[in-house]
Amino acid sequence: MPARLKPLIRHGPTRRKKASGPLTDSRRRLLRAMDLLEANLGQPQWDGPKDALEILVLTILSQNTNDRNALAAYQNLVRKFPAGPARPDSLPRNAEGQLDKVKLRLSDAARAVAPPRWEDVASLPADELARVIRVAGLPGSKAASILALLHWLQERGGYRLEEQIGKLGIEQAMAEMTRIKGIGIKTAAVTLIEAMGADLCPVDTHVHRIINRLGIVQTKADRDRTFAMLREMIPAGRAYALHHNLLTFGRTICLARAPQCDKCPLAKLCPSCGKA
Ligand code: SF4
Repeated sequence: MPARLKPLIRHGPTRRKKASGPLTDSRRRLLRAMDLLEANLGQPQWDGPKDALEILVLTILSQNTNDRNALAAYQNLVRKFPAGPARPDSLPRNAEGQLDKVKLRLSDAARAVAPPRWEDVASLPADELARVIRVAGLPGSKAASILALLHWLQERGGYRLEEQIGKLGIEQAMAEMTRIKGIGIKTAAVTLIEAMGADLCPVDTHVHRIINRLGIVQTKADRDRTFAMLREMIPAGRAYALHHNLLTFGRTICLARAPQCDKCPLAKLCPSCGKA
């Protein structure tokens, strides 16, 4: 009798875990949420290569502040060191002519605003750069990160970050960029998806909050873990649309302080409905 029972005891739990374990449930919920978001908000598509250094610097500037402040700091930099004629203003605006904070994406800003002369920025003392970008907050640490990034590129022969990424490949580029103090996984991933079309879903404050509220992950304050877990679950080719839809959804419905659960198309799916 014991000899007959042993194999059943050893194999049973493993099979059950594969069939109905938490990863399977989370992935199913994620796929349903992705479908609902795409049905309500569309399927945003990557619109082609962009200047990776512009996007990375804008993303560093946006840490712990909103995109409008990041853009204002970047424009200060461009005004101080203009590299060429101003570009026509194609930034999204609302009926009052103000920047549209729901539609604004820093990748669009990188197209709409010409870059500064990077060699001049790289030669600035850190405290002077900090003064120029002060409007974005944390000026000392952001200036140090931008200078470290520019010096890293200088050592590699120029300011064409996309060329370096092309040589290194996505995984190695992510590893190299995140070695620079102040460039975390989210910042590197935003650069890689917007400039290069990498199939990643960067986890910013909106993505992290919504994915946790939906019970797809339970990662508390650990955004990098959310990123790693999502990466395992998102089907190939759908990460870009998910990232942008979650940004829009987080700015309009699943707000940080007062989520609009009564208007939410994901409500039936969401364990936090009415409780967040
Ligand atoms: S039901 Fe509420 S908490 Fe859940 S995703 Fe929708 S808005 Fe967010």
